Amino acid sequence: MGYDVERFVGYVNEGLLCCVCRDVLEDPLQAPCEHAFCSTCIHAWLVHHHNCPEDRLPLDVTNLRPLYRYMRNDLARLQVRCVYRPQGCEVICALESIHRHEQDCDFALLNCSNAGEEYLCYRCGCPVQVSRHSLEAHLCVCEYRNRMCASGCGYTLTSTEEAQHNCISELRAELDLLRAELDCKVEEVRHEMESWLDSQRRYMVQKESLLKNEVDELKGQLSRVMSDVRVLLGVERARRQELERAELEKAELLELLKKEGLRPATPTQTATPPAEGPRKSSPRSLALDCIKRKSREVTVI
Ligand SMILES: [Zn+2]
Ligand SMILES: [Zn+2]
Ligand SMILES: [Zn+2]
Ligand SMILES: [Zn+2]
Ligand SMILES: [Zn+2]
Repeated sequence: MGYDVERFVGYVNEGLLCCVCRDVLEDPLQAPCEHAFCSTCIHAWLVHHHNCPEDRLPLDVTNLRPLYRYMRNDLARLQVRCVYRPQGCEVICALESIHRHEQDCDFALLNCSNAGEEYLCYRCGCPVQVSRHSLEAHLCVCEYRNRMCASGCGYTLTSTEEAQHNCISELRAELDLLRAELDCKVEEVRHEMESWLDSQRRYMVQKESLLKNEVDELKGQLSRVMSDVRVLLGVERARRQELERAELEKAELLELLKKEGLRPATPTQTATPPAEGPRKSSPRSLALDCIKRKSREVTVI
């Protein structure tokens, strides 16, 4: 839709009017037949038609071009009144800068800041629309403005809420909420602790079984060592018995020799090893050989 011709000061060239809405061109486009239109007007027209609304010549969206530069310049220089003139704004400026002015215009109609999320929904917020310059004054008396509860509960209330507000029930509800949150947190922490303990327990069980295995291993080693020691003790005992027996035999033989009145061989004869030299056949030297062999065996053991 174009700009209302009534808003313009002075004469507006016919060529700067939209062929569809007959208002001054807004965001203009031009057909090959040189007729010009507002962008929204011609797009809406071409949804159901395939021709120029002015002369009915064939026309398609792809044929639309920007307006000639000189026409664009003429359009931009047109003097126009602020759209908030009915609210009291007296500003008149070139069309190219009117948007910038209207955005900051003090007479611009604004929704009250307490309009709520969806400002069109008047039930949940202030329905008042005021000029920018009087918004502050309105906010001081707005029915929907927030105020601290006079009873000191700490809640911020709008005037509509104030009527039904009950500090005790509000605080009780909040307490219930906090309690529920706390229970939730406690439950969470408990759950965390339990799972941590579980993991620790599993770890300890593993460790215990490892240690048990090590102990078993050590026990096995110990029993092997013990049996080795027992074997060695047996061998030692046998060696001692053998030694004792040899001593005994030696003593017996010496006794026997003494009884028969014979003397033991000379030291030179005893030193000769039994394997060397020709063996003497006398019973005395045979007995001595036997003793010597025995004693050597015992030493070997
Ligand atoms: Zn138009
Ligand atoms: Zn045309
Ligand atoms: Zn204005
Ligand atoms: Zn308000
Ligand atoms: Zn209260």
